[in-house]
Amino acid sequence: MQVVIDPDAGFCFGVESSISMAEEHLRQSNKLFCLGELVHNEEEIERLKKLGLIVIDYSQFEALHHETVLIRAHGEPPSTFETARKNKLNLINSTCPIVKKLQSRVFCSYEELIAEDGQVVLFGKEQHPEIVGLKGQTNSRAIVINTPAEVNNIDFTRKIHLFSQTTKDEADYKMIQQIISERIIASGGDPEQLLSITRSVCKQVSNRIPGIKDFAKSHQLILFVAGKSSSNGKVLFHAAQSVNPNTHFISELEEINHEWFIGIDNMGITGATSTPLWLMEKVAAVIRQKH
Ligand code: SF4
Repeated sequence: MQVVIDPDAGFCFGVESSISMAEEHLRQSNKLFCLGELVHNEEEIERLKKLGLIVIDYSQFEALHHETVLIRAHGEPPSTFETARKNKLNLINSTCPIVKKLQSRVFCSYEELIAEDGQVVLFGKEQHPEIVGLKGQTNSRAIVINTPAEVNNIDFTRKIHLFSQTTKDEADYKMIQQIISERIIASGGDPEQLLSITRSVCKQVSNRIPGIKDFAKSHQLILFVAGKSSSNGKVLFHAAQSVNPNTHFISELEEINHEWFIGIDNMGITGATSTPLWLMEKVAAVIRQKH
């Protein structure tokens, strides 16, 4: 059977740079704390833990003093930097430049809207680390919506500035924009006056969708490798599955079902922007060996 790894798969530059910074530090010292999981991929986290990475949560971070802590690509709210200052922590800040820019746009928008009694609205998951970082720019005042039903939390008679989590699906974001516009009109307002939209879905995710669809179409079967908590993993998996129903999501080698390959002559392996190439190569090696 022919087994092909998607040539466009692998880390986005934000995650790649974060991991390089962690590895560089771990080459000199065999200990580095990381606030939250560096990347939404359990296998890659295990590899980094073996090098000395220690993943901590917020309560452990609060109790930590005089240590070096990595801030991951998703970014952090201002309160994290305040805690680090108080606890004399040395931070290695690997916030992705795209997220950093978005944080500063959210902050500026919040400052401007205060005077006009406006609302910053974030389309994303309340618990997602990037959203936690973005909400922190607004003193936790931003309204977070993740489903069409949650738009009910918005006051459609006041100004709204809408942003999206960088890893959201572009089509879903457009649908939310449309719903908000319609609700403003239904409330007697004008979206041109009341609604500002920042196109903040990262091109590293949205640009991969056409390519991943072409790749999925050109193989009889696709194995999509990603961490279960990866947001862009879900988006890219659904893109592949929409054109090739014979697409399977796996996070680790043990999840491969070898019966999937009965009658298959060619298959492709792809993944999320948080999936390491070495993991896809391992998956390919296992399949080549057995089929
Ligand atoms: S998906 Fe985009 S915004 Fe997110 S870490 Fe990667 S490059 Fe940065």
